[in-house]
Amino acid sequence: MRDIAKIQVQEGRLRQDLLDLARFGEVPGRGIMRTALSDADLAARQWFKERMKEAGLEVHEDAAANLIGRMNPVVGPTDGPCIATGSHIDSVAQGGRFDGALGICAGLEALRAIRESGLLILCPLELIVFTDEEGSHFAGTFGSRAMFNLLQEGEMERSRGTGLPTLAQDLNRMGKDVEKISQAARSPSEFRAFLEVHIEQGPVLESMGTPIGIVEGIVHLGRYLIRVEGKTGHAGTTPMHLRDDALVKAAGIITAVNEAVRSAGPEIVGTIGEFQVHPGVINIIPGEVEMALDLRSIKKTTLEAVKNTIQEIVHYTGNARMETILTKGGVRMDPGIMEAIEISCRQRGISFQRMWSGAGHDAMTFPTQNIPTGMIFIPCLAGESHCPDEDIRFEDAAIGAQMLADTMVSMAFKGEK
Ligand SMILES: [Zn+2]
Repeated sequence: MRDIAKIQVQEGRLRQDLLDLARFGEVPGRGIMRTALSDADLAARQWFKERMKEAGLEVHEDAAANLIGRMNPVVGPTDGPCIATGSHIDSVAQGGRFDGALGICAGLEALRAIRESGLLILCPLELIVFTDEEGSHFAGTFGSRAMFNLLQEGEMERSRGTGLPTLAQDLNRMGKDVEKISQAARSPSEFRAFLEVHIEQGPVLESMGTPIGIVEGIVHLGRYLIRVEGKTGHAGTTPMHLRDDALVKAAGIITAVNEAVRSAGPEIVGTIGEFQVHPGVINIIPGEVEMALDLRSIKKTTLEAVKNTIQEIVHYTGNARMETILTKGGVRMDPGIMEAIEISCRQRGISFQRMWSGAGHDAMTFPTQNIPTGMIFIPCLAGESHCPDEDIRFEDAAIGAQMLADTMVSMAFKGEK
């Protein structure tokens, strides 16, 4: 093993970058408004582009507006496959300061530390800022999917609602030709590995007092629409025994769904977080309810079994049905990379925990191309994310960046004598 002790990330520098970046789109009391390709996002990208250049990276922007900073080896071929890291600069509306931002700032600090170490890395290293991870235009992880030709037909022409811009419109606004989006596509053979540092977005690491989570995989996700029908009627004149109240039936489903998910064990979670009552008037018995169910599990079979149970519950409720809106396959991180991160932790005496990610990330895209992928989580305080209160400890951020740098270097030297 080369002398990794020479690689030393600087917490103060990383902290300053994170605080500087957090000023773009900050609205006092309402968190970060930096949705993809908004003015705040464009300004933040410009700022970050300058930081990448300052760090000595060769920077370019691809047809999907992904920002790519490359550090070529001082000796050896510059066109070989790279070890890449990256995340996103865009936020959800009223989001936090560290979701995505941590990954790109930690990546920048890791590359700076590697350069300053003087170690001769014989393969290119890349730092990528992916466009619209949060899906503020339509679907999420846009930039990483564009990078591997995985966009769905017509998705750039769709928006999240009337009056909201499409990705095509916003890309045009910045001078991109959407007809040429396929130019963003790269061959998987250009990558030796991909690593992403991210806040956990949940409460597990903090509750354990552990600074590093080594992600084993990203969960399977299923989203379903449940529609319950009843009969509207006057709230004053219809006796209770003659009612068919859609909301009362829906309430029974919600309770039963919660029980079904809980009894299936800890490897699945389920949430009904979206709910509409029709006509939604105080003196009319509800005639129809629509609700959306989100199920996530590390095991596809568990997800399927619970979904089938819920389908039966819905079926026996009477005048109710359930349809699938979306399913996304879970992905597994590369065992070799998980082990490399673990070794990096042991070498510096950092405690770690292997865990699953309940949220999606750009790192999901790379395993679909058979590119070995890993993710490093750090704790976020009180498990809060996608909200103004999202917070971290900067010492944890520095540990995350250090583990990223150490792991990138250990992988770059893998196979070398
Ligand atoms: Zn994120």
